[in-house]
Amino acid sequence: MTAEQKLSAARFLDTAGAFLKTGYFDECEPYNFTDDEELPVNAAAYSAVKSVAETVAVYCGEAEYCADSEIPGLNKDAGNAEAPDSIKSIKPTDSIKSIDSIKTTDSIAAIADAVCKCTNCGLHTTRIKAVPGEGVENPLVLVVGEGPGADEDASGRPFVGAAGRLLDKMLLAIGLDRKKNCFIANVIKCRPPQNRDPYPDEAAACLPFFEQQLAALNPPLILTVGKIPVKALLGTDEGITRLRGNWKLYHGIPLLPTFHPSYLLRDASQKRFAWEDLKALCRRLAEIDSAYAAETAQIRAGWNS
Ligand code: SF4
Repeated sequence: MTAEQKLSAARFLDTAGAFLKTGYFDECEPYNFTDDEELPVNAAAYSAVKSVAETVAVYCGEAEYCADSEIPGLNKDAGNAEAPDSIKSIKPTDSIKSIDSIKTTDSIAAIADAVCKCTNCGLHTTRIKAVPGEGVENPLVLVVGEGPGADEDASGRPFVGAAGRLLDKMLLAIGLDRKKNCFIANVIKCRPPQNRDPYPDEAAACLPFFEQQLAALNPPLILTVGKIPVKALLGTDEGITRLRGNWKLYHGIPLLPTFHPSYLLRDASQKRFAWEDLKALCRRLAEIDSAYAAETAQIRAGWNS
């Protein structure tokens, strides 16, 4: 939060409080707010993360991480497991063959342009802006969410609200960053009204755009957040609490489901399980990309000490 935003909020509360108390506006106390520190978003930040405690602090922001809780059907150990041999045997180049069937010669920019002009389903009538996705064009990970919320609809960018800020922290904690080595996209590119789940015909109409992005980006790994993308991509109705942390395949590309950051904002005690999923993703990425392995060596060393 910037100093200006804090000052506006304080002035508003002061004014409302004074008016409710006396019916008149009183002069407010002078304030001296400062801007919050920005999260580090470059390689220096990763190497500065020296211990698991610091890593978790970057991710969680607060000590609430340690809270425990039980939810029915939760597979607590899923993310602790090594990727199975069936996943480990897949080389990053293998997926190219699997997604050959997806017809695209378009660049990411051309696909984004088509998304922004799309009228293929009813959601184009209620959107403010379509949200094609953003990130680098040769990502280590394609991060997949469900669909735009109000902040994304207004800005045309994915994951920019409170959940987006938490997602950025989660990714940063394992050396990932949308400006450096990730691409973030949703399976639905336009906001469903009142944030309802997309209808099947809307999901079906929009999926070709996601598949074209997948073919253009050809990432070695996919991370899905929440139940909607797993349902849209894998056609399963199984709950995310059972799916999370279990490697799947989509067009031959290893896919790891985890919780949606907005769910983690509502129930911080579940961050510990999402954290296990992130660690599993980090370990697998380190096995297939030497530069990433070197960059995150200190982070992973902290988990083993
Ligand atoms: Fe087109 Fe997808 Fe938007 Fe529907 S949700 S209008 S299919 S871009």
